[in-house]
Amino acid sequence: MVFVSKFPPVNPSNLPVHERILAACREHAAADKDAIIFIDAETTTKKRYYRDIESAVNSMATALIKLGFKPGDVAAQAFPNCSQFLIALLAVMKCGGAISNASAIFTDYELQLQFSDANATIVFTDEDRLARIRRAVALCPNVKKIICLRTFPLRSEFPENVLDFVELSQTREEPINVNVSVDSIAILPYSSGTTGRPKGCMLTHRNITTMLDIAKNHMETEVAQAMFGKEKATWNKEHTLLILPWYHAYGLNTMFETVLMGMTGLVFKKFDQIVMLNRIKFYKVKLTWLIPPMLIFLAKDMMVPIFNIHPFLKVIISAGATAGKQLCEEVKKRFPNAWLCQAYGMTEMVQFTTLPRFEYGNCFETVGSLGATYEMKILDKENKEITTTNKVGQLCFRGPTIMKGYLKKEETDIIDSDGFLKTGDLGSIDDKGIISVTGRIKELIKVNGMQVPPVEIEDVLLLHPKVKDCAVIGVPDEQRGEAPKAFIVKKDHTLTETELTDFVRQKLSSYKWVESYDFIDEIPRLPSGKIQRKVLKKMAEEQEKS
Ligand code: ATP
Ligand code: MG
Repeated sequence: MVFVSKFPPVNPSNLPVHERILAACREHAAADKDAIIFIDAETTTKKRYYRDIESAVNSMATALIKLGFKPGDVAAQAFPNCSQFLIALLAVMKCGGAISNASAIFTDYELQLQFSDANATIVFTDEDRLARIRRAVALCPNVKKIICLRTFPLRSEFPENVLDFVELSQTREEPINVNVSVDSIAILPYSSGTTGRPKGCMLTHRNITTMLDIAKNHMETEVAQAMFGKEKATWNKEHTLLILPWYHAYGLNTMFETVLMGMTGLVFKKFDQIVMLNRIKFYKVKLTWLIPPMLIFLAKDMMVPIFNIHPFLKVIISAGATAGKQLCEEVKKRFPNAWLCQAYGMTEMVQFTTLPRFEYGNCFETVGSLGATYEMKILDKENKEITTTNKVGQLCFRGPTIMKGYLKKEETDIIDSDGFLKTGDLGSIDDKGIISVTGRIKELIKVNGMQVPPVEIEDVLLLHPKVKDCAVIGVPDEQRGEAPKAFIVKKDHTLTETELTDFVRQKLSSYKWVESYDFIDEIPRLPSGKIQRKVLKKMAEEQEKS
Protein backbone atom coordinates (compact mmCIF):
# COMPACT_ATOMS: atom_id res chain seq x y z
CA MET A 1 0.00 0.00 0.00
CA VAL A 2 1.39 3.34 -1.03
CA PHE A 3 0.49 6.36 1.08
CA VAL A 4 0.39 9.71 -0.68
CA SER A 5 0.88 13.22 0.66
CA LYS A 6 -2.19 15.22 1.58
CA PHE A 7 -0.34 18.51 1.43
CA PRO A 8 -1.19 20.51 -1.71
CA PRO A 9 1.31 19.67 -4.46
CA VAL A 10 4.12 22.10 -5.22
CA ASN A 11 5.24 22.84 -8.74
CA PRO A 12 8.99 22.86 -8.55
CA SER A 13 10.65 25.80 -10.22
CA ASN A 14 13.04 25.19 -13.06
CA LEU A 15 15.71 27.47 -11.68
CA PRO A 16 19.02 26.13 -10.42
CA VAL A 17 19.62 26.56 -6.68
CA HIS A 18 21.89 29.60 -6.90
CA GLU A 19 19.47 31.51 -9.11
CA ARG A 20 16.64 30.70 -6.76
CA ILE A 21 18.53 31.85 -3.67
CA LEU A 22 19.95 34.93 -5.36
CA ALA A 23 16.47 35.90 -6.57
CA ALA A 24 15.30 35.72 -2.95
CA CYS A 25 18.21 37.91 -1.81
CA ARG A 26 17.39 40.46 -4.51
CA GLU A 27 13.72 40.47 -3.59
CA HIS A 28 14.36 41.02 0.12
CA ALA A 29 16.94 43.70 -0.59
CA ALA A 30 14.44 45.52 -2.81
CA ALA A 31 11.74 45.36 -0.14
CA ASP A 32 14.02 46.83 2.48
CA LYS A 33 17.46 47.95 1.44
CA ASP A 34 18.85 47.50 4.95
CA ALA A 35 17.53 43.96 5.26
CA ILE A 36 20.08 41.85 7.09
CA ILE A 37 20.66 38.30 6.00
CA PHE A 38 22.97 37.27 8.85
CA ILE A 39 24.11 38.59 12.20
CA ASP A 40 26.98 36.91 13.98
CA ALA A 41 25.21 35.59 17.09
CA GLU A 42 28.24 35.88 19.30
CA THR A 43 29.36 39.41 18.60
CA THR A 44 26.13 40.79 17.04
CA THR A 45 28.27 43.50 15.50
CA LYS A 46 29.22 41.57 12.40
CA LYS A 47 26.37 41.81 9.90
CA ARG A 48 25.85 40.89 6.29
CA TYR A 49 23.13 42.47 4.14
CA TYR A 50 20.88 40.83 1.59
CA ARG A 51 21.94 43.43 -0.97
CA ASP A 52 25.63 42.41 -0.75
CA ILE A 53 25.36 38.72 -1.49
CA GLU A 54 25.03 38.72 -5.24
CA SER A 55 28.04 40.85 -6.10
CA ALA A 56 30.24 38.76 -3.81
CA VAL A 57 28.95 35.58 -5.46
CA ASN A 58 29.53 37.00 -8.95
CA SER A 59 33.07 38.06 -8.10
CA MET A 60 33.91 34.69 -6.58
CA ALA A 61 32.38 32.79 -9.50
CA THR A 62 34.42 34.77 -11.99
CA ALA A 63 37.56 34.14 -9.95
CA LEU A 64 36.82 30.40 -9.86
CA ILE A 65 36.37 30.25 -13.63
CA LYS A 66 39.68 32.06 -14.06
CA LEU A 67 41.27 29.42 -11.86
CA GLY A 68 40.06 26.83 -14.35
CA PHE A 69 37.06 25.60 -12.37
CA LYS A 70 34.65 24.05 -14.87
CA PRO A 71 31.06 22.75 -14.94
CA GLY A 72 31.00 19.31 -13.34
CA ASP A 73 33.98 20.07 -11.10
CA VAL A 74 33.73 19.78 -7.33
CA ALA A 75 34.83 22.27 -4.69
CA ALA A 76 34.83 21.44 -1.01
CA GLN A 77 34.50 23.75 1.93
CA ALA A 78 35.27 23.50 5.60
CA PHE A 79 33.81 26.63 7.12
CA PRO A 80 31.91 27.06 10.33
CA ASN A 81 28.55 28.79 9.81
CA CYS A 82 29.34 32.20 8.29
CA SER A 83 28.18 34.31 5.36
CA GLN A 84 31.21 33.19 3.32
CA PHE A 85 29.84 29.66 3.46
CA LEU A 86 26.81 30.77 1.47
CA ILE A 87 28.89 32.89 -0.91
CA ALA A 88 31.26 30.02 -1.71
CA LEU A 89 28.38 27.60 -2.17
CA LEU A 90 26.48 29.85 -4.57
CA ALA A 91 29.61 30.80 -6.51
CA VAL A 92 30.54 27.16 -7.09
CA MET A 93 27.03 26.41 -8.29
CA LYS A 94 27.05 29.43 -10.56
CA CYS A 95 30.08 27.93 -12.31
CA GLY A 96 28.15 24.69 -12.84
CA GLY A 97 30.13 22.90 -10.16
CA ALA A 98 29.10 20.95 -7.09
CA ILE A 99 29.95 21.87 -3.53
CA SER A 100 30.88 19.30 -0.92
CA ASN A 101 30.52 20.72 2.57
CA ALA A 102 32.70 19.27 5.29
CA SER A 103 32.47 19.82 9.01
CA ALA A 104 34.55 22.66 10.40
CA ILE A 105 35.64 20.38 13.21
CA PHE A 106 36.66 17.37 11.12
CA THR A 107 40.17 16.03 11.66
CA ASP A 108 42.65 16.19 8.80
CA TYR A 109 42.07 12.47 8.24
CA GLU A 110 38.31 12.93 7.87
CA LEU A 111 38.79 15.93 5.62
CA GLN A 112 41.23 14.09 3.44
CA LEU A 113 38.81 11.18 2.94
CA GLN A 114 36.07 13.54 1.83
CA PHE A 115 38.27 15.76 -0.36
CA SER A 116 39.68 12.76 -2.22
CA ASP A 117 36.47 10.78 -2.55
CA ALA A 118 34.67 13.87 -3.85
CA ASN A 119 37.63 14.65 -6.13
CA ALA A 120 37.57 18.28 -5.05
CA THR A 121 39.85 20.61 -7.00
CA ILE A 122 39.35 23.66 -4.79
CA VAL A 123 38.94 23.90 -1.03
CA PHE A 124 37.50 26.86 0.86
CA THR A 125 38.34 27.40 4.48
CA ASP A 126 39.36 30.02 7.04
CA GLU A 127 42.65 30.76 8.76
CA ASP A 128 41.61 28.99 11.97
CA ARG A 129 41.39 25.68 10.13
CA LEU A 130 44.18 26.24 7.63
CA ALA A 131 46.84 24.08 9.26
CA ARG A 132 44.48 21.12 9.35
CA ILE A 133 43.35 21.71 5.78
CA ARG A 134 46.95 21.85 4.59
CA ARG A 135 47.70 18.49 6.22
CA ALA A 136 44.62 16.98 4.54
CA VAL A 137 45.34 18.55 1.15
CA ALA A 138 48.96 17.37 1.22
CA LEU A 139 47.56 13.87 0.68
CA CYS A 140 45.04 14.90 -2.00
CA PRO A 141 46.74 15.60 -5.33
CA ASN A 142 43.32 16.42 -6.77
CA VAL A 143 43.15 19.66 -4.74
CA LYS A 144 44.79 22.43 -6.74
CA LYS A 145 43.98 25.55 -4.71
CA ILE A 146 42.97 26.60 -1.22
CA ILE A 147 40.88 29.74 -0.84
CA CYS A 148 41.26 31.06 2.67
CA LEU A 149 39.29 33.56 4.68
CA ARG A 150 41.32 35.65 7.10
CA THR A 151 40.06 35.55 10.66
CA PHE A 152 40.36 38.03 13.49
CA PRO A 153 42.52 39.03 15.23
CA LEU A 154 44.52 39.47 12.02
CA ARG A 155 47.88 37.73 12.00
CA SER A 156 50.74 39.77 10.66
CA GLU A 157 51.22 38.01 7.33
CA PHE A 158 48.68 36.52 4.98
CA PRO A 159 49.44 32.80 4.79
CA GLU A 160 51.50 31.58 1.85
CA ASN A 161 50.30 29.54 -1.10
CA VAL A 162 46.65 30.20 -0.57
CA LEU A 163 44.25 32.65 -2.18
CA ASP A 164 42.51 35.37 -0.24
CA PHE A 165 38.74 34.79 -0.01
CA VAL A 166 37.94 38.45 0.58
CA GLU A 167 39.98 39.61 -2.38
CA LEU A 168 38.34 37.12 -4.73
CA SER A 169 34.87 38.07 -3.57
CA GLN A 170 35.41 41.78 -4.13
CA THR A 171 36.73 41.99 -7.68
CA ARG A 172 33.36 43.25 -9.00
CA GLU A 173 34.15 42.13 -12.51
CA GLU A 174 31.39 41.53 -15.01
CA PRO A 175 29.76 38.22 -14.08
CA ILE A 176 30.34 35.32 -16.44
CA ASN A 177 27.17 33.36 -17.03
CA VAL A 178 27.37 29.59 -17.25
CA ASN A 179 24.38 27.59 -18.35
CA VAL A 180 23.65 25.23 -15.47
CA SER A 181 21.40 22.23 -15.97
CA VAL A 182 18.90 21.61 -13.18
CA ASP A 183 19.75 17.93 -13.41
CA SER A 184 23.42 18.43 -12.66
CA ILE A 185 24.87 17.84 -9.19
CA ALA A 186 24.70 20.90 -6.96
CA ILE A 187 25.64 19.56 -3.55
CA LEU A 188 27.66 16.53 -2.62
CA PRO A 189 27.13 16.03 1.11
CA TYR A 190 28.66 13.09 2.96
CA SER A 191 26.59 11.00 5.33
CA SER A 192 28.02 10.82 8.83
CA GLY A 193 28.65 7.15 8.62
CA THR A 194 26.91 6.03 11.78
CA THR A 195 25.63 3.09 9.75
CA GLY A 196 28.57 2.39 7.42
CA ARG A 197 31.33 4.45 5.84
CA PRO A 198 30.54 8.05 4.89
CA LYS A 199 29.13 8.21 1.37
CA GLY A 200 28.73 11.15 -1.00
CA CYS A 201 25.07 11.81 -1.85
CA MET A 202 24.59 13.25 -5.33
CA LEU A 203 21.91 15.90 -4.98
CA THR A 204 20.84 17.75 -8.10
CA HIS A 205 19.68 21.34 -8.42
CA ARG A 206 16.17 20.06 -9.01
CA ASN A 207 16.29 17.85 -5.89
CA ILE A 208 17.22 20.85 -3.81
CA THR A 209 14.96 23.50 -5.32
CA THR A 210 12.02 21.12 -4.95
CA MET A 211 12.86 20.80 -1.27
CA LEU A 212 13.14 24.59 -1.03
CA ASP A 213 9.66 24.93 -2.49
CA ILE A 214 8.19 22.28 -0.22
CA ALA A 215 9.80 23.87 2.83
CA LYS A 216 8.78 27.41 1.88
CA ASN A 217 5.22 26.30 1.36
CA HIS A 218 5.25 24.65 4.75
CA MET A 219 6.59 27.81 6.37
CA GLU A 220 3.94 29.99 4.74
CA THR A 221 1.08 27.73 5.75
CA GLU A 222 1.71 25.59 8.83
CA VAL A 223 4.55 27.46 10.55
CA ALA A 224 2.96 30.86 9.87
CA GLN A 225 -0.18 29.85 11.75
CA ALA A 226 1.85 29.12 14.85
CA MET A 227 4.09 32.16 14.52
CA PHE A 228 1.65 34.85 13.56
CA GLY A 229 -1.79 33.46 14.46
CA LYS A 230 -4.42 35.64 12.81
CA GLU A 231 -2.03 38.56 12.33
CA LYS A 232 -0.39 39.36 9.04
CA ALA A 233 2.81 37.36 8.54
CA THR A 234 5.79 39.73 8.63
CA TRP A 235 8.64 37.35 7.97
CA ASN A 236 11.17 40.05 7.20
CA LYS A 237 10.86 41.39 10.75
CA GLU A 238 11.78 38.04 12.28
CA HIS A 239 15.08 36.81 13.63
CA THR A 240 15.78 33.12 13.86
CA LEU A 241 18.59 31.01 15.27
CA LEU A 242 20.97 29.38 12.80
CA ILE A 243 22.50 27.17 15.39
CA LEU A 244 22.85 23.88 13.51
CA PRO A 245 25.96 23.37 11.37
CA TRP A 246 25.27 24.17 7.72
CA TYR A 247 27.54 21.48 6.37
CA HIS A 248 24.88 19.01 7.46
CA ALA A 249 21.61 18.72 5.51
CA TYR A 250 19.37 19.85 8.35
CA GLY A 251 21.42 22.92 9.21
CA LEU A 252 21.81 23.84 5.55
CA ASN A 253 18.08 23.75 5.10
CA THR A 254 17.46 26.02 8.07
CA MET A 255 19.79 28.52 6.46
CA PHE A 256 18.10 28.27 3.06
CA GLU A 257 14.66 28.66 4.61
CA THR A 258 15.76 31.73 6.54
CA VAL A 259 16.93 33.30 3.28
CA LEU A 260 13.84 32.31 1.31
CA MET A 261 11.57 33.86 3.92
CA GLY A 262 13.70 37.00 4.18
CA MET A 263 14.33 36.60 7.90
CA THR A 264 17.50 37.60 9.70
CA GLY A 265 19.56 34.61 10.75
CA LEU A 266 21.54 34.70 13.98
CA VAL A 267 24.59 32.74 12.97
CA PHE A 268 26.22 30.48 15.53
CA LYS A 269 29.71 29.25 14.77
CA LYS A 270 29.22 26.75 17.57
CA PHE A 271 26.45 25.92 19.98
CA ASP A 272 26.60 28.09 23.06
CA GLN A 273 23.74 27.64 25.51
CA ILE A 274 23.92 31.03 27.15
CA VAL A 275 24.28 32.90 23.88
CA MET A 276 21.29 30.98 22.59
CA LEU A 277 19.07 31.93 25.54
CA ASN A 278 20.30 35.46 25.46
CA ARG A 279 19.62 35.96 21.75
CA ILE A 280 16.16 34.42 21.94
CA LYS A 281 15.36 36.95 24.61
CA PHE A 282 16.96 39.97 22.98
CA TYR A 283 15.54 39.40 19.49
CA LYS A 284 12.24 37.92 20.74
CA VAL A 285 12.86 34.89 18.56
CA LYS A 286 9.67 33.07 17.62
CA LEU A 287 11.05 30.19 15.57
CA THR A 288 13.87 27.75 16.27
CA TRP A 289 15.10 24.61 14.57
CA LEU A 290 16.73 22.33 17.10
CA ILE A 291 18.05 18.82 17.59
CA PRO A 292 17.18 16.50 20.51
CA PRO A 293 20.20 17.33 22.73
CA MET A 294 19.12 20.95 22.63
CA LEU A 295 15.63 19.88 23.67
CA ILE A 296 17.23 18.08 26.61
CA PHE A 297 18.92 21.34 27.52
CA LEU A 298 15.64 23.28 27.26
CA ALA A 299 13.80 20.68 29.33
CA LYS A 300 16.34 20.14 32.07
CA ASP A 301 18.82 22.96 32.53
CA MET A 302 18.46 25.31 35.47
CA MET A 303 19.47 28.31 33.37
CA VAL A 304 16.49 28.07 31.07
CA PRO A 305 13.73 29.31 33.42
CA ILE A 306 15.96 32.16 34.60
CA PHE A 307 16.00 33.69 31.12
CA ASN A 308 12.23 33.79 30.96
CA ILE A 309 12.08 33.20 27.23
CA HIS A 310 8.91 31.12 27.17
CA PRO A 311 6.66 34.00 26.08
CA PHE A 312 8.65 34.43 22.84
CA LEU A 313 9.13 31.00 21.34
CA LYS A 314 6.12 30.13 19.18
CA VAL A 315 7.60 27.28 17.17
CA ILE A 316 10.19 24.71 18.22
CA ILE A 317 11.01 22.26 15.44
CA SER A 318 13.09 19.20 16.27
CA ALA A 319 14.65 16.83 13.76
CA GLY A 320 17.84 14.92 13.03
CA ALA A 321 17.32 12.19 15.61
CA THR A 322 14.56 10.88 17.81
CA ALA A 323 13.12 13.09 20.51
CA GLY A 324 11.17 10.85 22.86
CA LYS A 325 7.65 11.49 24.10
CA GLN A 326 8.59 12.18 27.70
CA LEU A 327 11.31 14.59 26.66
CA CYS A 328 8.90 16.51 24.42
CA GLU A 329 6.36 16.70 27.21
CA GLU A 330 9.00 18.14 29.54
CA VAL A 331 9.93 20.79 26.97
CA LYS A 332 6.29 21.66 26.46
CA LYS A 333 5.82 22.21 30.21
CA ARG A 334 8.48 24.91 30.08
CA PHE A 335 7.28 26.35 26.77
CA PRO A 336 3.50 26.23 26.91
CA ASN A 337 3.12 28.89 24.18
CA ALA A 338 5.18 27.00 21.62
CA TRP A 339 4.07 24.61 18.93
CA LEU A 340 6.50 21.80 19.61
CA CYS A 341 6.80 19.77 16.46
CA GLN A 342 9.09 17.37 14.66
CA ALA A 343 10.10 16.74 11.09
CA TYR A 344 11.93 13.76 9.66
CA GLY A 345 14.23 13.30 6.75
CA MET A 346 17.64 12.29 5.57
CA THR A 347 20.47 13.69 3.51
CA GLU A 348 19.75 11.18 0.72
CA MET A 349 16.41 12.97 0.21
CA VAL A 350 17.84 16.49 0.68
CA GLN A 351 16.03 16.91 3.97
CA PHE A 352 12.44 16.63 5.22
CA THR A 353 10.04 14.06 3.82
CA THR A 354 7.62 14.43 6.71
CA LEU A 355 6.43 17.77 8.00
CA PRO A 356 4.18 18.66 10.94
CA ARG A 357 0.68 20.06 10.44
CA PHE A 358 -0.43 22.79 12.80
CA GLU A 359 -3.98 21.51 13.08
CA TYR A 360 -2.73 18.27 14.62
CA GLY A 361 -1.07 20.10 17.51
CA ASN A 362 2.22 19.23 19.19
CA CYS A 363 4.24 16.23 18.03
CA PHE A 364 5.21 14.35 21.14
CA GLU A 365 5.79 11.03 19.51
CA THR A 366 5.25 11.78 15.86
CA VAL A 367 7.14 13.46 13.04
CA GLY A 368 4.24 14.98 11.12
CA SER A 369 2.59 13.99 7.86
CA LEU A 370 4.01 12.99 4.51
CA GLY A 371 5.45 16.17 2.95
CA ALA A 372 4.13 17.57 -0.34
CA THR A 373 4.90 15.42 -3.41
CA TYR A 374 6.07 12.36 -1.42
CA GLU A 375 4.78 8.82 -1.46
CA MET A 376 5.58 6.31 1.23
CA LYS A 377 5.40 2.58 1.70
CA ILE A 378 6.24 0.56 4.79
CA LEU A 379 7.94 -2.82 4.51
CA ASP A 380 7.80 -5.68 6.99
CA LYS A 381 10.76 -7.89 7.87
CA GLU A 382 10.27 -9.95 4.72
CA ASN A 383 10.24 -6.76 2.64
CA LYS A 384 6.52 -7.12 1.96
CA GLU A 385 4.38 -4.02 1.91
CA ILE A 386 2.38 -3.48 5.08
CA THR A 387 -1.22 -2.83 4.19
CA THR A 388 -2.63 -1.51 7.45
CA THR A 389 -2.14 1.60 9.52
CA ASN A 390 -0.42 1.61 12.92
CA LYS A 391 1.93 -1.23 12.04
CA VAL A 392 5.68 -0.74 12.36
CA GLY A 393 8.02 -1.49 9.47
CA GLN A 394 10.77 0.05 7.38
CA LEU A 395 9.82 3.48 6.00
CA CYS A 396 10.47 3.95 2.28
CA PHE A 397 9.93 7.18 0.38
CA ARG A 398 9.57 8.20 -3.24
CA GLY A 399 9.58 11.76 -4.51
CA PRO A 400 11.42 14.41 -6.50
CA THR A 401 14.07 15.11 -3.88
CA ILE A 402 15.60 11.65 -3.81
CA MET A 403 19.28 11.78 -4.70
CA LYS A 404 20.69 10.52 -7.97
CA GLY A 405 22.66 7.96 -6.00
CA TYR A 406 25.84 7.66 -3.97
CA LEU A 407 28.96 8.93 -5.68
CA LYS A 408 31.01 6.16 -7.34
CA LYS A 409 28.62 3.49 -6.12
CA GLU A 410 26.81 2.51 -9.29
CA GLU A 411 24.65 -0.11 -7.67
CA THR A 412 22.76 1.94 -5.16
CA ASP A 413 20.59 -0.71 -3.55
CA ILE A 414 19.21 1.83 -1.12
CA ILE A 415 16.79 2.83 -3.92
CA ASP A 416 14.53 -0.04 -5.06
CA SER A 417 13.38 -0.75 -8.62
CA ASP A 418 10.21 1.30 -8.07
CA GLY A 419 12.24 4.34 -7.04
CA PHE A 420 11.55 4.09 -3.31
CA LEU A 421 14.41 4.94 -0.99
CA LYS A 422 14.74 2.46 1.84
CA THR A 423 15.57 4.54 4.89
CA GLY A 424 16.66 1.86 7.35
CA ASP A 425 14.33 3.53 9.83
CA LEU A 426 11.36 1.92 11.50
CA GLY A 427 8.04 3.65 11.77
CA SER A 428 4.31 3.58 11.19
CA ILE A 429 1.46 5.75 9.98
CA ASP A 430 -1.88 6.25 11.72
CA ASP A 431 -5.40 6.73 10.33
CA LYS A 432 -4.94 10.50 10.12
CA GLY A 433 -1.75 10.04 8.13
CA ILE A 434 0.53 11.01 11.01
CA ILE A 435 3.88 9.25 10.94
CA SER A 436 5.96 7.99 13.86
CA VAL A 437 9.62 6.97 13.72
CA THR A 438 10.47 4.37 16.31
CA GLY A 439 14.13 3.67 15.66
CA ARG A 440 16.81 2.64 13.20
CA ILE A 441 16.88 -1.01 12.18
CA LYS A 442 20.62 -1.33 12.76
CA GLU A 443 20.36 0.07 16.27
CA LEU A 444 17.70 -2.30 17.57
CA ILE A 445 18.74 -4.36 20.56
CA LYS A 446 17.65 -7.98 20.23
CA VAL A 447 16.83 -9.39 23.66
CA ASN A 448 15.64 -13.02 23.57
CA GLY A 449 14.55 -12.46 20.00
CA MET A 450 12.52 -9.39 20.96
CA GLN A 451 13.44 -6.04 19.53
CA VAL A 452 14.10 -3.14 21.83
CA PRO A 453 14.64 0.32 20.35
CA PRO A 454 17.31 2.02 22.50
CA VAL A 455 15.41 5.28 22.25
CA GLU A 456 12.54 3.87 24.29
CA ILE A 457 14.82 3.20 27.25
CA GLU A 458 16.66 6.50 26.82
CA ASP A 459 13.39 8.35 26.94
CA VAL A 460 12.59 6.77 30.31
CA LEU A 461 16.06 7.38 31.74
CA LEU A 462 15.93 11.04 30.72
CA LEU A 463 12.82 11.43 32.84
CA HIS A 464 14.87 10.77 35.95
CA PRO A 465 15.53 14.15 37.59
CA LYS A 466 19.15 13.24 38.40
CA VAL A 467 19.99 12.27 34.80
CA LYS A 468 21.44 14.94 32.56
CA ASP A 469 21.92 12.88 29.41
CA CYS A 470 22.04 9.21 28.50
CA ALA A 471 22.50 6.64 25.75
CA VAL A 472 21.64 2.97 25.48
CA ILE A 473 23.31 0.26 23.39
CA GLY A 474 23.03 -3.50 23.12
CA VAL A 475 25.90 -5.61 24.48
CA PRO A 476 26.42 -9.36 24.01
CA ASP A 477 24.70 -11.47 26.64
CA GLU A 478 25.18 -15.23 26.97
CA GLN A 479 21.61 -16.07 27.85
CA ARG A 480 19.61 -13.50 25.97
CA GLY A 481 21.75 -12.79 22.93
CA GLU A 482 21.91 -9.09 23.68
CA ALA A 483 21.09 -6.94 26.68
CA PRO A 484 20.68 -3.17 27.08
CA LYS A 485 23.52 -1.23 28.63
CA ALA A 486 23.11 2.43 29.58
CA PHE A 487 25.63 5.26 29.66
CA ILE A 488 24.58 8.02 32.02
CA VAL A 489 25.69 11.61 32.48
CA LYS A 490 24.72 12.65 36.00
CA LYS A 491 22.95 15.88 36.77
CA ASP A 492 23.24 15.18 40.48
CA HIS A 493 26.32 13.32 41.72
CA THR A 494 24.31 11.41 44.35
CA LEU A 495 22.64 9.32 41.64
CA THR A 496 23.20 5.57 42.07
CA GLU A 497 22.74 2.54 39.91
CA THR A 498 20.09 1.18 42.29
CA GLU A 499 17.98 4.31 41.87
CA LEU A 500 18.11 3.91 38.11
CA THR A 501 17.34 0.20 38.26
CA ASP A 502 14.24 0.83 40.38
CA PHE A 503 13.15 3.64 38.12
CA VAL A 504 13.41 1.63 34.91
CA ARG A 505 11.71 -1.41 36.45
CA GLN A 506 8.67 0.66 37.36
CA LYS A 507 8.27 1.88 33.84
CA LEU A 508 9.32 -0.82 31.38
CA SER A 509 8.60 -4.50 30.91
CA SER A 510 11.35 -6.84 32.02
CA TYR A 511 13.02 -7.59 28.68
CA LYS A 512 13.78 -3.87 28.36
CA TRP A 513 15.47 -3.60 31.76
CA VAL A 514 18.97 -2.23 31.68
CA GLU A 515 21.62 -4.83 32.47
CA SER A 516 24.44 -2.49 33.42
CA TYR A 517 25.15 1.18 33.86
CA ASP A 518 28.19 3.25 33.16
CA PHE A 519 28.58 6.81 34.39
CA ILE A 520 30.43 9.05 31.94
CA ASP A 521 31.05 12.80 31.49
CA GLU A 522 29.51 13.28 28.08
CA ILE A 523 27.54 11.31 25.52
CA PRO A 524 29.35 11.29 22.16
CA ARG A 525 26.99 12.81 19.61
CA LEU A 526 27.05 13.97 16.01
CA PRO A 527 26.12 17.52 15.06
CA SER A 528 22.74 16.15 13.95
CA GLY A 529 22.09 15.10 17.54
CA LYS A 530 22.59 11.42 16.82
CA ILE A 531 24.23 9.37 19.50
CA GLN A 532 27.47 7.80 18.27
CA ARG A 533 26.58 4.30 19.36
CA LYS A 534 29.62 2.87 17.59
CA VAL A 535 31.87 4.81 19.96
CA LEU A 536 29.94 3.56 22.98
CA LYS A 537 30.01 -0.02 21.72
CA LYS A 538 33.75 0.21 21.44
CA MET A 539 33.98 1.55 24.99
CA ALA A 540 31.85 -1.33 26.23
CA GLU A 541 33.99 -3.87 24.34
CA GLU A 542 37.17 -2.46 25.82
CA GLN A 543 35.72 -2.59 29.32
CA GLU A 544 34.75 -6.18 28.71
CA LYS A 545 38.32 -7.06 27.70
CA SER A 546 40.01 -5.34 30.64
P1 ATP B 1 24.03 8.67 9.30
O1 ATP B 1 25.40 8.44 8.80
O2 ATP B 1 23.84 8.30 10.73
O3 ATP B 1 23.00 8.09 8.42
P2 ATP B 1 23.62 11.24 8.25
O4 ATP B 1 24.79 12.12 8.20
O5 ATP B 1 23.25 10.50 7.04
O6 ATP B 1 23.82 10.22 9.42
P3 ATP B 1 21.05 12.35 8.19
O7 ATP B 1 20.94 12.12 6.76
O8 ATP B 1 20.53 13.63 8.70
O9 ATP B 1 22.50 12.18 8.75
O10 ATP B 1 20.33 11.24 9.00
C1 ATP B 1 19.09 10.77 8.65
C2 ATP B 1 18.61 9.89 9.75
O11 ATP B 1 18.33 10.65 10.93
C3 ATP B 1 17.31 9.20 9.47
O12 ATP B 1 17.53 8.04 8.71
C4 ATP B 1 16.80 8.92 10.88
O13 ATP B 1 17.39 7.76 11.41
C5 ATP B 1 17.28 10.09 11.68
N1 ATP B 1 16.24 11.12 11.88
C6 ATP B 1 16.11 12.30 11.25
N2 ATP B 1 15.05 12.99 11.72
C7 ATP B 1 14.48 12.25 12.68
C8 ATP B 1 13.35 12.41 13.54
N3 ATP B 1 12.61 13.49 13.53
N4 ATP B 1 13.08 11.40 14.39
C9 ATP B 1 13.84 10.30 14.41
N5 ATP B 1 14.92 10.08 13.64
C10 ATP B 1 15.24 11.04 12.78
MG1 MG C 1 22.41 8.57 6.59
